[in-house]
Amino acid sequence: MRTLYADIIVDISHEKLDKTFQYRVPERMRDRLEPGACVMIPFGNGNRLIKGYVVSIGDQCQFDPEKIKEIVGLPEKETGVEDKMIALAAWIRRNYGCTMIQALKTVLPAKQTVKKLEHRQLVRLMNREEILSLLGECERKKQVAKARLLKALSEQESIPYEWVTGKLGVSAATVNSIVKVGAAKLVSTESYRNPVKMQALEAAHNTLSSQQQTIVTEVLTDFDAGRRQTYLIHGITGSGKTEVYMQLIGEMIKRGRQAIVLIPEIALTYQTLLRFYQRFGDRVSVMNSTLSPGEKYDQCERAKAGEIDVIIGPRSALFTPFPNLGLIVMDEEQENSYKSESTPKYHARETAMEVAKLYGASVVLGSATPSLEAYYRAGKGEYRLFHLTKRLTGGELPTVHTVDLRQELQEGNRSIFSRKLQELMADRISKGQQTILFLNRRGYAGFVSCRACGEVMKCPHCDVSLSEHKGGRLICHYCGYMQPMPKLCPKCGSKYILGFKAGTQQIEDKLKELYPGVRTLRMDADTTRTKDSYEKILSAFANGEADVLIGTQMIVKGHDFPKVTLVGILAADLSLNASDYRAGERTFQLLTQAVGRAGRGVLPGEAVIQTYQPDHYAITCAAAQDYKSFYEEEILYRELSGYPPAAHMLAVQIYGKEEENVKQLAQRLADVVKSNMDFLQILGPTPANISKINDIYRYVFYAKHAEYDTLVAVKDCVEETLRQWQPRQLSIQFDFDPVNVL
Ligand code: ADP
Ligand code: ZN
Ligand code: ZN
Repeated sequence: MRTLYADIIVDISHEKLDKTFQYRVPERMRDRLEPGACVMIPFGNGNRLIKGYVVSIGDQCQFDPEKIKEIVGLPEKETGVEDKMIALAAWIRRNYGCTMIQALKTVLPAKQTVKKLEHRQLVRLMNREEILSLLGECERKKQVAKARLLKALSEQESIPYEWVTGKLGVSAATVNSIVKVGAAKLVSTESYRNPVKMQALEAAHNTLSSQQQTIVTEVLTDFDAGRRQTYLIHGITGSGKTEVYMQLIGEMIKRGRQAIVLIPEIALTYQTLLRFYQRFGDRVSVMNSTLSPGEKYDQCERAKAGEIDVIIGPRSALFTPFPNLGLIVMDEEQENSYKSESTPKYHARETAMEVAKLYGASVVLGSATPSLEAYYRAGKGEYRLFHLTKRLTGGELPTVHTVDLRQELQEGNRSIFSRKLQELMADRISKGQQTILFLNRRGYAGFVSCRACGEVMKCPHCDVSLSEHKGGRLICHYCGYMQPMPKLCPKCGSKYILGFKAGTQQIEDKLKELYPGVRTLRMDADTTRTKDSYEKILSAFANGEADVLIGTQMIVKGHDFPKVTLVGILAADLSLNASDYRAGERTFQLLTQAVGRAGRGVLPGEAVIQTYQPDHYAITCAAAQDYKSFYEEEILYRELSGYPPAAHMLAVQIYGKEEENVKQLAQRLADVVKSNMDFLQILGPTPANISKINDIYRYVFYAKHAEYDTLVAVKDCVEETLRQWQPRQLSIQFDFDPVNVL
């Protein structure tokens, strides 16, 4: 049997992770040792016994085998925060495919030598009478500045130094003269930087509705009885989910536990945060992409030290090292931003459940349009499902008109606005009410359809749209099927078969032609490039500075606009044609959210859905705001085609500079996997959706199977094969249950 060696880290601060030490694995431990294991090792010249963590194991010895030391054993059982973070990293490595170091870097904050903010205070030493007599003296001598300061000191026992020099306008010399006579002293206190300074308000509490109360009671009853579960709250926007989260968090704090609240970055608006600050004051903190690494590190230190109870942030907030975590909330759990786009490509939902397991915490997921994954698990009894069915802020659901664009064309309307939409827009403009025009451009990457009959070119094997590529070829991104671009529609013979091109700019121009003098705002990737521009456009619209807001999917989230009484969806089915299996789900989500933007205030709303596929269930169900029916149709498709969540899918991506090498390696790897596990369904390899970035070629193949662990075995098999082959200048990435086409 070959001797095994383990690479071990002894300091798990972010910066020292790459510094590993090699140790021999004793015979008795070789079967149980895995990356992430905590071991005791002799360290340094004195062979002091210390704790280390295994990051990798192999049979290559990098040093003189004679001199290499041996692992002593396992430490006494420990359950510190640090051990939990290591265990979590090991889980991420195993389930998403990356090195232990990459996993550790994901879960540990980068350490920064943070300059602690110094707060200086001027603290009164004399009693009030003494200060007042000094004050009288100064007034007689006309020492105005000094008098001002003494007056302030007579009223308060301590004054922040910035206030003394700032608001009171007192010079340092004057402060010194007061300090000299013993009237006050300067005291400095250090504190971590805190992005939030707020007092909790009593008024921030609402009495829960009975639906809300039921959820809170059930979750807490489970918790107090020692049952840890995952709960899914399905409730439209405004149905009171956030209120439930806050109530639960408050109860956790009473029990000495902490909470992590995940909110997609785009929804982390000032209004949302304010509600949490008003409820929990400075016991809550925020983690977002605008914080410096130093501030992020501080947040973690504050969490460890027990200075905060609640952290709010996007997916990375999940790794906040609370000593006694009790609850993880994940709002808008269906959002794609919960999946990491770089290795390790972890999903915050599944990772949250692992974190909860390590800490003995509960997980609450919330959504207006739950992901198929979450609803599927709820259906199988893995999550407990709750519904919130009433909008608490008032406002009826809007009336929805679905317009068939094929019919518009037939009846001679070539405008991008249907006659119904034109009529309603004119009405709103004349009444001074607001309209939102939503251009659904998602998945617009190159699908081809017929303008006359709506037929979309699809892969005969995968039931997803083909994408138009250079040279008039249509390609399937899953299996590599290819065909030439047809000249005539295969269904109706029309020659109007082409890709779709229209931008928000074009819509704005057309709108101004139609309604001279109409005031418009535009929101898309171009107009929101600079920081804050997103918020600026939204608040300008909220202030009534425009009649019509035109935008891409960005506008369906965030602010409420009480004056919006019309929503027009210009190309509702565009996203149905994205070349991946989630196209229907995304379309339904986007349309439901878009439709729901109308009629949030007192005035009733209407929505117009313009589409080539008026009978598609994603469209009809969104028009009816009917999640359940959509789910039932969609899950049927996933089950029939073996797509997640009915089965699991692993994308293996191979990168390199030489296309031929990349292609060959991808093929050889796929072959190895096939021969080792002949029961698997393998798709590809094919060039990736974006087949070349920065001169790096990308190929991808997919493995599908009902069991996630089988795909983990595929990953292990690929890794092991690569270890043997040692291919040069090629790299690999794994993506489990990908949310985007690779
Ligand atoms: P969601 O998170 O589902 O969008 P919110 O919790 O934000 O819903 O609630 C929507 C609005 O209703 C908020 O303005 C909130 O303050 C208010 N609200 C929520 N619950 C209650 C309640 N029990 N009583 C009164 N107002 C409530
Ligand atoms: Zn046609
Ligand atoms: Zn295909």
